[in-house]
Amino acid sequence: MKKIGFIGLGIMGRPMALNLVKAGYALTVYDLNPDPVKALVTAGATEGKSCQDCAERTEIVITMLPNSPEVKVAVLGDKGVLVGATSGMILVDMSSIAPLASQDIAARLAEKGVEMLDAPVSGGEPKAVEGTVSIMVGGKQGIFDEVKDMLLVMGGSAVLVGAIGSGNTTKLANQIIVALNIAAMSEAMVLATKAGVDAEKVYQAIRGGLAGSAVLDAKVPLALKGNFKPGFRIELHIKDLANALDTAHEIGVPLPLTSSVMEIMQALKVDGKAGDDHGGLIQYYEKLAQVEVRS
Ligand code: NAD
Repeated sequence: MKKIGFIGLGIMGRPMALNLVKAGYALTVYDLNPDPVKALVTAGATEGKSCQDCAERTEIVITMLPNSPEVKVAVLGDKGVLVGATSGMILVDMSSIAPLASQDIAARLAEKGVEMLDAPVSGGEPKAVEGTVSIMVGGKQGIFDEVKDMLLVMGGSAVLVGAIGSGNTTKLANQIIVALNIAAMSEAMVLATKAGVDAEKVYQAIRGGLAGSAVLDAKVPLALKGNFKPGFRIELHIKDLANALDTAHEIGVPLPLTSSVMEIMQALKVDGKAGDDHGGLIQYYEKLAQVEVRS
């Protein structure tokens, strides 16, 4: 088994790295925050001193960081992956970042003979813990084939969708669909509640029909409890929608519904809710209608 470096042990990276350790991979881990590093070392991983150190000790480096700037710092910066990498190493960036940033980073790595896949995930923390996230991959077929078994330790599926950057384009499409679904669910549940119908019963009545969805099943039960602990923070979804809008505008694609939901998320941020789970978007509608959807 190849040695793996894992950089970024947050809500998603920590359980994903843990699943690799449990599967027997030798991991060297690094994060700016020492707490999850200690937890992984207790589970059997080795502590990396820096991103460079992770690359020097391993053949594949995985990054799971917030956004394009953090990935650029970790990969291309001082004591970054590129400094420690040798020709033939593979970087698998599993963060959700701008597709153009993936292409820029891959071009810089290629100058040193380092290969890259962009491989963002969908499914959230519960699926990261279970090892069943959906992984959408951009890059070369041969490199994908080399790492596919390792990806399937963390994911329930791994699909190569196209050249480098395609994984993140797919993730932007995913995030548009999720954001619009959460907004639709919020509008509907607030309407039902203010009309005097029990939201829990509405959910049970419609979940098996055409309105049923993974979003409905994941987010309605939490909204009914008023549980908006992340999960996937609103501020990270704002980041994804900003990347979606920038990418779309650059290639001439208007996104009218995405921009509306973006403004709802911006309003929640001003209201101090940027750290809530994105299911907490319902709070915007609750405030407008002066009603709470709770069972
Ligand atoms: P997070 O903020 O919980 O974790 C990010 C980690 O990166 C933190 O531990 C932070 O200390 C570390 N970090 C930041 N900069 C660093 C650097 N330069 N060097 C080393 N470590 C650094 O974020 P998350 O929720 O785990 O999300 C990670 C990525 O996965 C994001 O792109 C997010 O959009 C995506 N994602 C998240 C979810 C989810 O439900 N949370 C689901 C799918 C995809």
